[in-house]
Amino acid sequence: MAITPRDTNTGGLRGKRPNFCGFRAASPRSVCRGRAVDDFTSMPVAMMDPEIAANERRKYACECPIEAELARYGRPLHMPAKPAAPPRAPRGTSRSARSWDAEAAKRMLMNNLDPANAVDWEHLVVYGGSGRAARNWHEYAKLVRTLDELAPDETLCVQSGRAVYVAKTHEHAPRVLLANSNLVPKWATQANFDELDRMGLTMYGQMTAGSWIYIGTQGILQGTYQTFLAAAEKHFGVPSLRGKLVLTAGLGGMSGAQPMAVTMNEGVVIDVEVRAERVERKVREGYLDKMTASVDEALAWAKAAQASGKASSIGLVGNAADVFPEFVRRDVIPDLVTDQTPAHDLGAYVPRGELGELDELRSRDLAEYHRRSLEAIAAHVTAILDMQKRGAIAFDYGNNLRAQAELAGVSVRNPDRSFKYPGFVPAYIRPLFSRGLGPFRWAALSGDEKDIRVLDAELLRVFPDDEGLQRWVKLASERIPFLALPTRICWLGYGDRAKFGDAMNRLIHEGKVSAPIAIGRDHLDCGSVASPDRETEAMKDGSDAIADWALLNFALNTASGASWVSFHHGGGVGIGNSLHAGMVVVADGTAERAERLDRVLTVDPGIGVVRHAIAGYPEAEATVAEKGLRLP
Ligand code: NAD
Repeated sequence: MAITPRDTNTGGLRGKRPNFCGFRAASPRSVCRGRAVDDFTSMPVAMMDPEIAANERRKYACECPIEAELARYGRPLHMPAKPAAPPRAPRGTSRSARSWDAEAAKRMLMNNLDPANAVDWEHLVVYGGSGRAARNWHEYAKLVRTLDELAPDETLCVQSGRAVYVAKTHEHAPRVLLANSNLVPKWATQANFDELDRMGLTMYGQMTAGSWIYIGTQGILQGTYQTFLAAAEKHFGVPSLRGKLVLTAGLGGMSGAQPMAVTMNEGVVIDVEVRAERVERKVREGYLDKMTASVDEALAWAKAAQASGKASSIGLVGNAADVFPEFVRRDVIPDLVTDQTPAHDLGAYVPRGELGELDELRSRDLAEYHRRSLEAIAAHVTAILDMQKRGAIAFDYGNNLRAQAELAGVSVRNPDRSFKYPGFVPAYIRPLFSRGLGPFRWAALSGDEKDIRVLDAELLRVFPDDEGLQRWVKLASERIPFLALPTRICWLGYGDRAKFGDAMNRLIHEGKVSAPIAIGRDHLDCGSVASPDRETEAMKDGSDAIADWALLNFALNTASGASWVSFHHGGGVGIGNSLHAGMVVVADGTAERAERLDRVLTVDPGIGVVRHAIAGYPEAEATVAEKGLRLP
């Protein structure tokens, strides 16, 4: 296979999906992998498997069965080097590394791969498809060892999960710099990436997998809570969904957070899920109050809960492509309608019909299954548009449902090519991004849940007037179980992040929090991501695909002395579609750290506020004026 540039015939930007299907293959092996044969290459020819295997064994002076791993996993993982016991971060207040920054990076790397967090730790996968924390098991061991040995004036460089260089820097520099999955834009196709991954040259870092700040389902739940809270404030003028009905679908990995997120906002939700066992599981886990397979019963329960103002979540077993049109026929129009079925993948979305027969169809005739999925998606989205016409507020929840419906022939766009109903970022999250708000989070390196409880109480004390935050912290502390190292997520904005960072540092200094705290965030944040189909969809000034902001964010966090800083490609929406940066800064209770925390936690959201102010968002312009950000 030759690694070739992506098809440059990508069409326009806003509102059009680029045509990225120009993968080219030259060698018979690649043709066997089912890719289209095309013309020439201007990159070095990719290697055949025996050569890859020989290289890998030479690199690590090992005898790992790479040919078998390539056949089985599509990449060299060096499985014989996997530790006997799964990774688990050390706990406690003493460290083996030479600085708390390096100790924190080591603990968080191990914590990402703790089975309580990672979906598939044995293959180094943390979450989100193949989002990994280290390139292979030899590299994992090398990363842990190097972090333990790293001097307080050295910086470890990590190239897509591989420790490559210990640079002499200075004490105030980041201890780790990470670059994950980056490709030169013209070559940034999934096919090229997969080939380079197979050659052991890169890894998919997703957003927080390769940057060592993943915190499990709590991160998703809070974002979903925040989205419904923002929807309530925008459409109903109050920070509550009390008495309102939300209709949605999907009760899987991420989608399963929806019912709890709605009830945390005091609303009533009917969540349609085609697989009864998924609904049962969510009831068992406490994410969902009750279930039924009867539309009549679900509607009666919802009506009663709305009338009494009680929060309630109802799982309705059924197919969204049947149930949503049935609601329209009965003229049942919810206040909010959305969807989180896996519509981004036509093989995972479930068409109408009997589940057993559909499973059989999928393995027998995938093309026909895809056609049936598109047919069902057409009915599903037509019903959402009908509900919207009759007064429901509709939004897309980042699963590509609208674009799939367009493929199925549904008219989903206005004459100016904008979507008839918006994505969740332009609809609700952008005003928050404009004020520097985003998924701020922290982990107690001690492993002691009490540290998080102390910080929960401090949050309530420091932000007494923030009603949404007060409710979130109380509910999160009651309802969310701790997984792996104890963590908390809490969307905080410009000014408030620095304020709370200072409070955390003070509590460590006073001994009320027992050990340092790793403070970070998702890459889905106000100033750190360029992703035209999601975070930067429909920017006011048309700057959806401008990625300079993510690079400036990476550089600013490095210059300001974050503890580790990362720059990634392809997180969330896949290779070719996004560029984004991450940062983590450790609070250790010292005066030196108070200064660094203030710098990092100010400029990190600061560049986000500026990015939105320059794009013309009034909330960002107001934040600039109110908080005194300096624009040249
Ligand atoms: P999942 O596969 O774990 O769960 C999806 C659920 O939908 C499954 O339980 C499945 O049985 C059900 N389902 C499939 N077709 C259905 C149909 N026609 N009617 C009713 N139920 C149906 O996936 P997930 O992790 O929950 O994610 C769902 C989607 O949401 C994905 O496309 C994901 O990318 C997207 N997502 C986006 C964001 C974001 O942008 N912030 C966040 C979360 C999820």
